[in-house]
Amino acid sequence: MSLKEKTAVVTGSNSGIGLGIARELAAAGANVVLNSFTDNDEDHALAKEIAAEFGVTARYIKADMSKADECRALIEQAGACDILVNNAGIQHVAAIDEFPVEKWDAIIAINMSSAFHTTAAALPMMRKAGWGRVVNIASAHGLRASPFKSAYITAKHGVVGMTKVVALETAREAITANAICPGYVLTPLVEKQIPNTAKEYGISEDEAIEKVILLKQPSKEFVTVEQVAGIVTFLCSDAAAQITGTTISADGGWTSQ
Ligand code: NAD
Repeated sequence: MSLKEKTAVVTGSNSGIGLGIARELAAAGANVVLNSFTDNDEDHALAKEIAAEFGVTARYIKADMSKADECRALIEQAGACDILVNNAGIQHVAAIDEFPVEKWDAIIAINMSSAFHTTAAALPMMRKAGWGRVVNIASAHGLRASPFKSAYITAKHGVVGMTKVVALETAREAITANAICPGYVLTPLVEKQIPNTAKEYGISEDEAIEKVILLKQPSKEFVTVEQVAGIVTFLCSDAAAQITGTTISADGGWTSQ
């Protein structure tokens, strides 16, 4: 499949799943815009590496996905947005009565509201181009709950709902909107959760991986970044043109329980 002439904007893509998705889309020929809230030489170097490796145009644009105006400015600065991957996300693990308010606000803004703002800014560009793909990186936690993750689960369920609305509002156009719901993928976001989960449950970090984190993942294997990225490129293909408003789980059987 070739995505030549398409421009993909991937939010939160200087690390983990987002970076893997940007690389996969570039490998399929798309020009890519990388993003995060930092503006380091390393961030721009990632874009240069992708451009050199895949022969596409790759840029890094700093924008803080916790801020509405910066979400919209990211899309405007990209100049084109045929493929929008809403991937930026953070996590915080705490009981609901101890959950810090500023963490709640940040998670709702970054993991949920940012997708509203970027989608609102990108849809007119997709309509003008006559083609578009919105791919929201939700989570198995967009479909199921676990204790101590109130903000994350609220945000991810919200993203799944928003995905359905975008699909209905674009149903008569060559635009689709879908959410991918991965189980646990071993990225910096999950690595950071291991000590907190161990603390919440009063167990060792090894036990936290086996007994808590992968407890609900019957395969007992982490999903890989490449597997999630492969679903994004599939959703950009012609074979997926009638797949819209739905969720695709990659969770080792978690949500079949
Ligand atoms: P990660 O921490 O490696 O990546 C998160 C990305 O978001 C980073 O590039 C980070 O810089 C960026 N980001 C954070 N705050 C931002 C902000 N304010 N503005 C812009 N960018 C910001 O984590 P990851 O595991 O790759 O997570 C990526 C997405 O996948 C998240 O939405 C996460 O919820 C989702 N997800 C992850 C897993 C998993 O197990 N790792 C499972 C399901 C869903």
